[in-house]
Amino acid sequence: MSLRTLADLDVTGKKVIVRLDLNVPMDGAVITDDGRIQAALPTLRELRARGAALIILTHLGRPDGQHDGKYSVAPVAERLGELLGVPVSTIDAVVGDLATHAADSCEPGAILMLENVRFDPRETSKDANERQTLAMEWAALADCYVGDGFGVVHRKQASVTELAGLLPHAAGLLIEAESTVFTRVLQDPQRPYAVVLGGAKVSDKLAVIEHLLTKVDTLIIGGGMCFTFLAALGHNVGSSLFEADQVNTVTAIMKHAQERGVSLVLPVDVVAADRFAAGAAAKVVPVSGIPEGWMGLDIGPESAQLFAAALDDCKTVVWNGPMGVFEMPAFANGTRVVAEAITQVKGLTVVGGGDSAAAVRLLGIDKAGFTHISTGGGASLEFLEGKTLPGLVALEA
Ligand code: AMP
Repeated sequence: MSLRTLADLDVTGKKVIVRLDLNVPMDGAVITDDGRIQAALPTLRELRARGAALIILTHLGRPDGQHDGKYSVAPVAERLGELLGVPVSTIDAVVGDLATHAADSCEPGAILMLENVRFDPRETSKDANERQTLAMEWAALADCYVGDGFGVVHRKQASVTELAGLLPHAAGLLIEAESTVFTRVLQDPQRPYAVVLGGAKVSDKLAVIEHLLTKVDTLIIGGGMCFTFLAALGHNVGSSLFEADQVNTVTAIMKHAQERGVSLVLPVDVVAADRFAAGAAAKVVPVSGIPEGWMGLDIGPESAQLFAAALDDCKTVVWNGPMGVFEMPAFANGTRVVAEAITQVKGLTVVGGGDSAAAVRLLGIDKAGFTHISTGGGASLEFLEGKTLPGLVALEA
């Protein structure tokens, strides 16, 4: 089955409830990267141009089912209003009388953002009945539903799955674009096909690594997750990120890669620091020479060149997770070199994952150098794992 698209949905003069993923990084009330808000604009513009009134749902952070002003969507609504050039009104409620009243008074073209959906514990409840009751309250506010939060399509949550089932629905332009690209990568990658993985935790990505071994020609591993691989190879990783309970699994992964003829590329040097801080003492050392008590916070320059060379002749590249602590300039070089190498690839290049996309923006790398920058980290990995994504199934015909 295929996704229903905006073209399939009659929205003129209707109230449309739109689930977005506007979960942007914040420093207090300041948005530090508005990429996800930017990515939501085309759908919102199209719906307004077609005469719909919009009721927006999003989550922000992890308020754990509690109303917590720290996670209010107000700054997000304000930024969205600036970008669209129209006011986005907010209310201090997720559902209930206040929401009903505000939704009732929405005229065509108006935009209302309800409070953080995760203020209501039913949004993420494991109990389908609880999710359904919340979804029914939202469904009563609108005539139809547009799902455009790609970052949450791997979640079974009231505003993502149950709500779509209660109203005429369609995928927004972002989800449509994201799923087109990832379907292409999953089903018909041009070869050589390489995946570059980084980020903090190896355990988060083990399932995808296992699956990718059946698909890719080259798997490149940097970031904090490489240290569990290096430790499994017998290196002393000092105080680097290291998941001791994953060593056996990682050893098996390396064996599988060899059996399948997948080239698994690991760092040969790292930037080691004496503590986790922007101003830490730092030096480049071979992976066999991380001093006791020091931690690898970036791949070293030789590794960055090695990774870039491994990408050189690729026709498909997917990158998920930074190569180091790119947020600190002293440890951003590996991520920068690898990202720039990906922009030079002649073929389909996809940046998956919130942190990798944030790195592209923070490091000022030309976005136009990539075929696609995804808004979904976990969602894009689960897509590439070949998993069924409940939030996409809910948007099918
Ligand atoms: P993830 O959410 O798993 O993709 O992890 C992203 C985070 O991993 C970023 O905030 C990076 O700062 C962090 N990271 C990358 N490399 C390292 C490293 N070598 N040590 C500690 N953290 C790292």
